[in-house]
Amino acid sequence: MSASQIEVGAPARPQWGAQWRRLCLPSFGLAAITALILWAAVADLLQQGRLQMVLSAGWAELAAPLLVALVVATGICERIWPAEPRPVLARGHVQDACYLALHAIVVIPLMTLLSVGGATLIGSHARWIELRSTEHWFAWLLVPLTLLAMDGANWLAHYADHRFDPLWRFHALHHSQEELSVLTSFRAHPLMHTTGFILATIPVMVLMPTRAIAPVLITAYVCVGTLQHANLRWTFGPVGLMIVSPAYHRLHHATDDQAVNLGVVLTIWDVLAGYARFPARGDAVGRTGLDGRPVPVEQDAPSRPLLLLANQLAEPFRPQT
Ligand SMILES: [Zn+2]
Ligand SMILES: [Zn+2]
Repeated sequence: MSASQIEVGAPARPQWGAQWRRLCLPSFGLAAITALILWAAVADLLQQGRLQMVLSAGWAELAAPLLVALVVATGICERIWPAEPRPVLARGHVQDACYLALHAIVVIPLMTLLSVGGATLIGSHARWIELRSTEHWFAWLLVPLTLLAMDGANWLAHYADHRFDPLWRFHALHHSQEELSVLTSFRAHPLMHTTGFILATIPVMVLMPTRAIAPVLITAYVCVGTLQHANLRWTFGPVGLMIVSPAYHRLHHATDDQAVNLGVVLTIWDVLAGYARFPARGDAVGRTGLDGRPVPVEQDAPSRPLLLLANQLAEPFRPQT
């Protein structure tokens, strides 16, 4: 709309009113819920004097040397066997490296506190969901079952991200990447994690209310989930029928259809829901990103990664056109 159109059109005040009504209030609602959960976690941990210890444990799980080594090794594989050849400093890689920094500084403490906050709130308001009888179950049965249920909860959260518009506005940033690489795993709006972490906390509270999952298992889970964005054609062969491979997840990042392959680590949930589309070896490498670029992307902008990052993070709160 030009300046002259604004002058002769509706007066500024009602227009601002209309903008305010269009402003994405659910996005502010999600931010408020997240702040509430964080407050519950921090207040509880400060009372127990465990805040520093829990944050350090979160770092150890979510930024473990194993994960760092996996990202580096995958980056090397991407140089040798790229699905889409492109320079190391391609705009998409540089932008996603900024998200890696954001992940390390903001998202890891956020994820840790969301888990603790979710557990604190469930513990004080919904203790009845805890299955005390599992205390006597063998660990070799209980731990895989809990991880399976956590993966199912993550699938459900991902489904909700695509199904409900307010959640999609946060998830769209992840899908906006047109140059997938292992770093794209970290390209996510920090508020995208709220639903996932609350849902994933529930199976742990139900099945393992008095025991903890070994941190190495959480790290291994995160590692498999990180590999799926690699710029590789790998289908994982027969294992790819059960575990999400880079080729399988790339189909979920297609420009025109993101309704398939919602799995985070296991494909079983997609198979059960009828959303699985398995790639075949030698399939053409499809384009990724979002048609029409509803989220500002680096491929469209001059190279100011940090300014663009701020713009991308603000996008879910802007009025919808
Ligand atoms: Zn998605
Ligand atoms: Zn993805």
